Amino acid sequence: MLETDKDQMVRAINKQRSFFASHRTKSIEFRSEQLLQLKSGILKYQDKIAAALWADLHKSPEEAFLTEISIVSSEIDNHLRHLKKWAKAKRVTTPLHLWPSSGKIVYEPLGCALIIAPWNYPFQLLFNPLIGAISAGCCSILKPSPETPHVAAVITEMVAELFDPAYVTIINGGINTNTHLLKERFDVIFFTGSTAVGKIIMKAAAEHLTPVVLELGGKSPCIVDADANIAVAAKRIALGKLINAGQTCIAPDYVFAHATIKDQLIEQLALQFRTLYGEDAQKSRFYPRIIHERAFNRLVGLMQKGTVVAGGTSDVSDCYIAPTIVDNVATTDPIMQEEIFGPILPVLTFEQIDEVLTYIEQNEKPLALYYFGNTATAREVIGKTIAGGTCINDTLMQIVNHHLPFGGVGNSGQGRYHGRESFLAFSHQRGVVSTPTWLDLPFKYPPFRYFKWIKKLL
Ligand code: NAD
Repeated sequence: MLETDKDQMVRAINKQRSFFASHRTKSIEFRSEQLLQLKSGILKYQDKIAAALWADLHKSPEEAFLTEISIVSSEIDNHLRHLKKWAKAKRVTTPLHLWPSSGKIVYEPLGCALIIAPWNYPFQLLFNPLIGAISAGCCSILKPSPETPHVAAVITEMVAELFDPAYVTIINGGINTNTHLLKERFDVIFFTGSTAVGKIIMKAAAEHLTPVVLELGGKSPCIVDADANIAVAAKRIALGKLINAGQTCIAPDYVFAHATIKDQLIEQLALQFRTLYGEDAQKSRFYPRIIHERAFNRLVGLMQKGTVVAGGTSDVSDCYIAPTIVDNVATTDPIMQEEIFGPILPVLTFEQIDEVLTYIEQNEKPLALYYFGNTATAREVIGKTIAGGTCINDTLMQIVNHHLPFGGVGNSGQGRYHGRESFLAFSHQRGVVSTPTWLDLPFKYPPFRYFKWIKKLL
């Protein structure tokens, strides 16, 4: 991957600073026009985007549409529908002792944004945050992942066609480019990627006290209880695990199955794997590939401990790993020590729900937590754990409803987006008090007359 020249980056940032200073990004009309412009660009480019996703990840056009393109375009519609309401200053109530002042919250764009995306959903995870930046009235520099070069090339062409580069532009490159970019001052950084790089981003942002949104990863547990509907659970877990061949931040990373249903669950999961992708998933046009050989080797390494009870085959020449289930896994095995991020599902066993809850509580806070079973225990699971998002008797769906905030907590990230939260992620909420001049009560000024009474009132 070619790195971008440092001077070119500085010039791009300075242009955006001037553009932002012109206040052009602030009118609702301008923001709506840009959202519409993005929508029409996506419509025009959607076949090229789908083809690039196929070339980079072997992602089928159907999966590309459902998990990338349609998510971005419906997010644009949502913003177009609500932007005026979200951006309108909101009056707040004023305590009696401040009368006759009034107070309101004014939403203002943070300024120039840097948006950095990973390779697993290289289209969605760059453009969904951009929608928030446009809605809030920010200028944006977009930094796609170099690991998906076909997607990077198509979206670079699309963005250049749609936007004035002083307003939105793409900067391509690898770690060197990122390192230089991060030395510059931005007004907000929106980063999606690994926890390890998230720490690098936060350290760099601290130099300028730049606010950050960190959408990170980690190990997302999935609990299947004794009274769960096993067939349905298996189907939904299989989909959550195998979409994008497990390279999904909110994929169920591992399963804790109740001892009484574990064998039945494994059988049903294996059945669902075959139902979704056939006897030989390598031949399925719906089954994506592992991003590169480095990731392939890491994943094959994770299969070396425990007992493979389904799948387990792989082909390095094609970066293919079969949908795989691993039984007899210990929590100390490598597969339980790092985010798997591939189509391998370890299944562990529990007898009492408290064992699982203690394990989750003793480990890093996950991005997603899934529970299959009855409502009362589900409530207990939610009450005794902390996680970015949760589905009861389902997987992945917490990301689909744009009325829900999406984001991690602790090690899995900070900040949130989607819908109004995206608008807020790129906005500053300024508190404004207006005080008329026809009355100027003496209480706040020394020598604090009537202090005894005021003390009672406050
Ligand atoms: P990554 O952290 O390696 O890379 C993310 C971005 O950071 C890329 O654009 C990359 O070029 C850049 N980068 C990499 N190393 C860097 C460095 N040393 N300094 C500066 N920038 C650097 O992540 P990835 O491998 O692209 O994506 C996989 C990870 O992302 C997984 O952990 C996954 O869980 C997480 N993820 C999270 C979400 C979410 O919404 N929370 C979504 C997708 C992926």
